[in-house]
Amino acid sequence: MQETVRQLLRDLGEDPDREGLLNTPRRVERALRFLTSGYGADIDQVLNGALFTVDYSEMVIVKDIDFYSLCEHHLLPFFGKCHVAYIPSTKVIGLSKIPRLVDVFSRRLQVQERLTSQIADTILQKVAPLGVAVVMEATHLCMSMRGVEKQNSVAVTSAMLGAFRDNARTRMEFLDLIKMGVGSVALREAASLACAED
Ligand SMILES: [Zn+2]
Repeated sequence: MQETVRQLLRDLGEDPDREGLLNTPRRVERALRFLTSGYGADIDQVLNGALFTVDYSEMVIVKDIDFYSLCEHHLLPFFGKCHVAYIPSTKVIGLSKIPRLVDVFSRRLQVQERLTSQIADTILQKVAPLGVAVVMEATHLCMSMRGVEKQNSVAVTSAMLGAFRDNARTRMEFLDLIKMGVGSVALREAASLACAED
């Protein structure tokens, strides 16, 4: 990978042998390996030992989880907050595991919509709750740095499964708790806001 980065620097009109760039290929490789380390993560291992059987069926919410990901169209960062909720059926998951799950899927080349679904689908599959909801709000540098229209906009995506999809009141309770407010954000709008693919 380092030779590829050297070539990339040449293609950009730079001299990869000048002092400031000498160690750049090594740093870029290390950074990219870390930022895509989610590919190598084993979900079952991440969740290992953190699923507990309980008699509890109120909504569990973990909000304001910071996440950083790379847009697969431009290899530029998009980052923001992730809010997760689920309603347990028979099992709960250790609270610290939810941010870990968000990390695992964020540290891949992503589009925000897929990242949101993957987190929700994984919780649905592994915890078998009555419902799961994930909302992600993110700034995309591929839009803001390139001066694409709506540079200050935040893209919002959501995945609502089970009770959150079927029951408007449950959904509203969640959106209220994460302060998205009733209808304040048209979640549908997200698709047109997330990373412009040009
Ligand atoms: Zn992009």
